[in-house]
Amino acid sequence: MSKVPFITLNNGVRMPQLGFGVWQVPDDEAAETVSAALEAGYRSIDTAAIYGNEKGTGQALARSGVAREELFVTTKLWNSDHGYDAALRAFDASLARLGLDYVDLYLIHWPMPAAGTFVETWQALEKIYAEGRARAVGLSNFHPGHIQRLLSETSVRPAVDQVELHPRLQQSELRAFNARHGIATEAWSPLGQGRGLLDDPVIGRIAAKHGRSPAQTVLRWHLQLGHMAIPKSSTPSRIRENIDVFDFELDADDLAAFAGLDTGDRLGPDPETFSVA
Ligand code: NDP
Repeated sequence: MSKVPFITLNNGVRMPQLGFGVWQVPDDEAAETVSAALEAGYRSIDTAAIYGNEKGTGQALARSGVAREELFVTTKLWNSDHGYDAALRAFDASLARLGLDYVDLYLIHWPMPAAGTFVETWQALEKIYAEGRARAVGLSNFHPGHIQRLLSETSVRPAVDQVELHPRLQQSELRAFNARHGIATEAWSPLGQGRGLLDDPVIGRIAAKHGRSPAQTVLRWHLQLGHMAIPKSSTPSRIRENIDVFDFELDADDLAAFAGLDTGDRLGPDPETFSVA
């Protein structure tokens, strides 16, 4: 039985705090990789239309034997599908590829503020939510200014904001903003994409102190900060390692050392300007 705790979203839906991300997993490997994750105990799976692996992901869900209500499936609307009608069509296509009749969480992948389309796109997600085809709807890569606009111009409060977040980009202001507005923060690239961050000597020292791996130590940091995290791995032993993080605690000294690692450096694009369609 999985020991992953839940975060209760602002509409009462419970989301596992630790999930499994599948960016860069090819569609023909996704069934096997997601099956390994489900076998290891993950129940929350994070995909996106642009990842091109909703089909393989859906196959793993179908063959897993895990009851649908125990799964938490997230997918995302890609940039080329902004706009009210396009978003509704894109959602139908994602559901069909996943082989599901609802998702647990549907996110707008990027705000593309210069395009001026995220408000009407959000209105399509409101409709999908009202129809019960997504149990929760939310955002990815949205900054406070973008979220403020949605809060003042639309009626459904976003449940989640999934953003780049790891010890080198700790997003303190954004996390505080989301907390003030009842929006759960979710970390993408929680391991800083592996290389580099996991070799950091400070993290190595804390990991050695607890007899755990650097990846486990970083995931523990996420969990103790209270947000969701969705590490990705295609390696079965790492898939298991990354969910084996519920029997140790970082102490105040460890957390202070982590706080000192924040350089503010991004690995991914800047949400203010990213507009690749
Ligand atoms: P992660 O921070 O999860 O790091 C993944 C990398 O770390 C892989 O190269 C993996 O290697 C390696 N790794 C995983 N576990 C370990 C371990 N225990 N020890 C050593 N290395 C390890 O990066 P991602 O960018 O994949 O982010 C995670 C998820 O976040 C994505 O899969 C996606 O779902 C989501 N995401 C969302 C974005 C958005 O815009 N909303 C943008 C980017 C990501 P290997 O696979 O070879 O084991």
